Amino acid sequence: MKTKITVVGAGHVGEITAQRIAEMELGDVVLIDIIEGIPQGKALDITQSGSVVGFGSRIKGTNNWEDTAGCHIIVITAGLPRKPGMSRDDLLHANTEIVAKCAEKIAKFSKDGTIIVVSNPLDAMCEVARRVSGFPKNRVFGMAGILDTARMRAFIAMELNVAVENVTALVLGGHGDTMVPLVRCCNVSGIPISELMPADRIKAIVERTAKGGGEIVGLLKTGSAYYAPGAAAAEMVEAIVKDKKKVLPCAAYLEGEYGCKGLYVGVPVVIGAGGLEKVIEIKLLPEEQAMLDKSAAAVKELVDLLKV
Ligand code: NAD
Repeated sequence: MKTKITVVGAGHVGEITAQRIAEMELGDVVLIDIIEGIPQGKALDITQSGSVVGFGSRIKGTNNWEDTAGCHIIVITAGLPRKPGMSRDDLLHANTEIVAKCAEKIAKFSKDGTIIVVSNPLDAMCEVARRVSGFPKNRVFGMAGILDTARMRAFIAMELNVAVENVTALVLGGHGDTMVPLVRCCNVSGIPISELMPADRIKAIVERTAKGGGEIVGLLKTGSAYYAPGAAAAEMVEAIVKDKKKVLPCAAYLEGEYGCKGLYVGVPVVIGAGGLEKVIEIKLLPEEQAMLDKSAAAVKELVDLLKV
């Protein structure tokens, strides 16, 4: 049976996610939105790009949840993006309502599906999707760490003028300004970045990474980033469809790992056919643990405000 993947929200992140999934031929794609015509038009456009690029995935645009029935993977990108001057947390109440509605429909039409949450504030929206869908934690997790890590890798590659494929980085914590870039885990083909650039440049990269989303919001002025977020969500879908056992930083529901209990926090995990198959726990240095605790506390503050 062919894999069926739904992308909820046919806005900026949704369209790129759907396009990449279709181009990678990961399965049949359903793109759903509440605005009539938008998902249908974008689905048709992506389908037609297949004639040029050379892929044959089926992609259907719809406003009807029945078309999503029996989906294996559902990526939720529905919700408001932030505008200049806003933090991701400012989106809490509006997006809780939207994500809760989507999770309810997913539980109804795709009860065995795996949910990847993208909508912000990410860690709190994962919790909304988990509570409302009633799905187990291995089938509800969020995309943030891949994006934050991708930003850090890009900044390191730009600084050193080296191929980004050779750069490895790791960012933990909640998807907000308190995220925790782990400098000691960053390297270029195995060479620690501390061997390759001075401490002040590393510090500047760490700061730019933490504010990476805001930098793009400030430039675009009308919304937030979508090319890298869409690519990151598609990478997670690929890891599930191909059972790749990829080690990726994702927002995972922790039950004691890293000292966090009953909370979504970004940590390294294994993604495969079983969804989020395993949390990889590494021993943090005291200062890293303190930063992670602070980040988790910021997530908890938001989760405590949830009314679902
Ligand atoms: P956008 O405004 O371009 O698109 C959002 C879409 O959601 C719109 O088309 C809207 O009609 C649709 N929508 C609203 N309610 C819906 C519902 N109930 N069912 C289906 N569709 C619905 O926004 P965007 O730039 O695509 O961003 C989407 C979300 O992703 C935002 O919350 C943004 O903050 C978040 N985001 C997260 C990350 C991350 O790293 N996790 C990165 C980028 C963006």
